[in-house]
Amino acid sequence: MPLKRIVIKVGSHVLTQEGSIAKKRMLALVALIAKLKEDNAYEVILVSSGAVAAGYTQLRLDRKSLGNRQALAAIGQPFLLKMYQEKFATFDILCSQVLFSADVFESELHVAHAKRAIDTLLANKVVPIINENDTVSIEELVFGDNDRLSAHVAHHFDASLLVILSDIDAFYDKDPNQYKDATRRAIVTHLSQEELEADPSPNNTFATGGIVTKLQSADFMMRHNRKMFLASGFDLKDVYAYLIDGRHQGGTFFGT
Ligand code: ADP
Repeated sequence: MPLKRIVIKVGSHVLTQEGSIAKKRMLALVALIAKLKEDNAYEVILVSSGAVAAGYTQLRLDRKSLGNRQALAAIGQPFLLKMYQEKFATFDILCSQVLFSADVFESELHVAHAKRAIDTLLANKVVPIINENDTVSIEELVFGDNDRLSAHVAHHFDASLLVILSDIDAFYDKDPNQYKDATRRAIVTHLSQEELEADPSPNNTFATGGIVTKLQSADFMMRHNRKMFLASGFDLKDVYAYLIDGRHQGGTFFGT
């Protein structure tokens, strides 16, 4: 069976709790990746946020300041990777750190260099853990939380599927945290301009806050003939069902 290359993106809300790294959730994520790699079923690239939160566990700088967030990312990134390394080691899996600045995808030459490294890591069964280099490139710290980065990673490194593990378990017809009657959209084949535009006004019922960058990533993936799956990062049962058992019980699938 040919290997299926996928990108999994995990956001900082999933990876952190009360200002620290949520170790149990990180372990559950690592166990999921170990399971996916069993029998060489999947090649997995992980895009992980959480550097600022990991830094904050070491030094309590005020996170409202951009400079402080950059400093915390610099402090936290090695801690984050150390935690991943220890957890992957319990499954006999080696992981690696790949830091990008956002403009890497603007140069074909840089993409080719990066792809050679990623391909070599995957060929040697190593899990690349990608994050934006937040100390020099502040895209993630200002907006997006790696959603858009992960879509570019999936496209340029030739993954057929991007899995976004979020604090929300699917895309709904309106924000489920505000509207009790919101219903889950199981399959989305097209996103409208209105849905893709970040409009923080209360009148925009279907897309506010963090969901917009996820929809933009889904749109990018679909326009490049690739797929995206959005599911909960707090409870991994829907992503297990989808990726391991081939059952779509929860979460939203974007694509055709
Ligand atoms: P993460 O940190 O996991 O990347 P965010 O918290 O940034 O995710 O974004 C998800 C949030 O977007 C949800 O918790 C939800 O409150 C909000 N949201 C707004 N509109 C919707 C919608 N139509 N469907 C799902 N979530 C939505």
